[in-house]
Amino acid sequence: ERLRLDGRVAYVTGGGQGIGRAFAHALGEAGAKVAVVDLVLARAEAVACELSLKGIKSLGLAADVSKPEDVQRMVDAIVARWGTIHIACNNAGINLNSASEETSLEEWDKTFNVNLRGLFLCCQAAGRIMLNQGYGKIINTASMASLIVPHPQKQLAYNASKAGVVKLTQTLGTEWIDRGVKVNCISPGIVDTPLIRSRELRPLVRHWLADIPAGRLAQPTDLQAAVVYLASEASDYMTGHNLVIEGGQSLW
Ligand code: NAD
Repeated sequence: ERLRLDGRVAYVTGGGQGIGRAFAHALGEAGAKVAVVDLVLARAEAVACELSLKGIKSLGLAADVSKPEDVQRMVDAIVARWGTIHIACNNAGINLNSASEETSLEEWDKTFNVNLRGLFLCCQAAGRIMLNQGYGKIINTASMASLIVPHPQKQLAYNASKAGVVKLTQTLGTEWIDRGVKVNCISPGIVDTPLIRSRELRPLVRHWLADIPAGRLAQPTDLQAAVVYLASEASDYMTGHNLVIEGGQSLW
């Protein structure tokens, strides 16, 4: 009962595939209305359509989370449709891969713009609405890479940006808790999504598999209950927490 999200309004960035898509389904199945937001409008709309077919109220929106005007437009569109925002899932992220001595400034900036600046913009825009109403749940997607350096590492910008996600989450989580806004993050291990099937990351997966006590990659479904928990009143005493779901990988 305390895990139900009936009447709540949620959005998920990077909701057009992978982990974000799984989050959108989970929140919708728990009763929330869900805005699916993605850089690629067709992906957002396709997932919004999947939700509608299940009887979930949904909306597909395009936004680049690294652009303040896009983020504001996203928030305005959700408020125009459903009146407010209760649950913000800031999940969009990118993972580029290069040896640290060869990482270009362009790659560094691109990574930080999406993974950290995007998160700041979304937390701030959604947070203002939540602070005004004295209620909100923000769930950011960090990564196990915020804790450990996955081997073999070629992900300087990514790892550093995800460590930043955890600190941003801790800071907002403590700053806003007395005004009813809880901010937590989820740190997945290696999840079977289009991201890790990319040309750059595919060669690393074989190495990573050997490092996972669970003996398999995570599926996006392995993360669904966690997002519902952090979005629900069952987790009201939790804030600034980094919920690690990695099949034991960070312990080996
Ligand atoms: P994915 O690449 O499969 O999907 C990400 C989605 O985000 C895509 O649909 C993409 O279009 C969208 N996106 C990219 N840049 C965007 C932007 N600027 N604005 C809005 N949308 C944007 O990735 P995924 O594996 O589902 O990862 C989702 C999140 O989980 C990311 O933050 C990633 O860092 C994190 N994560 C993934 C893994 C993994 O192993 N897959 C592990 C730990 C953390």
